[in-house]
Amino acid sequence: MSQADLKRWMDYVASRPCLICQGWPVEVAHIQMLISPKTGLRLGRRVGVNKWAVIPLCVKHHRSGGGSIHVMGETKFFEEHEISQEVLVRVWASWFCGWVEGGRKSAGDFS
Ligand SMILES: [Zn+2]
Repeated sequence: MSQADLKRWMDYVASRPCLICQGWPVEVAHIQMLISPKTGLRLGRRVGVNKWAVIPLCVKHHRSGGGSIHVMGETKFFEEHEISQEVLVRVWASWFCGWVEGGRKSAGDFS
């Protein structure tokens, strides 16, 4: 996967509405708690795939509001908004698989 692919993925995520309030425009927020849709393993920086673990959040939910992910921390933020890791992974994986299928990459590139 190239830098150009990553840029395209970021652009795609940025085109989605805020995960929490459906607002737009959004910012691309990096998160830690995603699990690979293919292997079921946590995506770690170690394997260099965590840069793909991004979700769309509006400015308020990303960093400027009291309830933003940067202020609350990731775990508390998702608890507060009642988004379980399971749901988050499912949502992320559906975007990601849709993006992969719409492009030239296979999910195997991310194992
Ligand atoms: Zn929002």
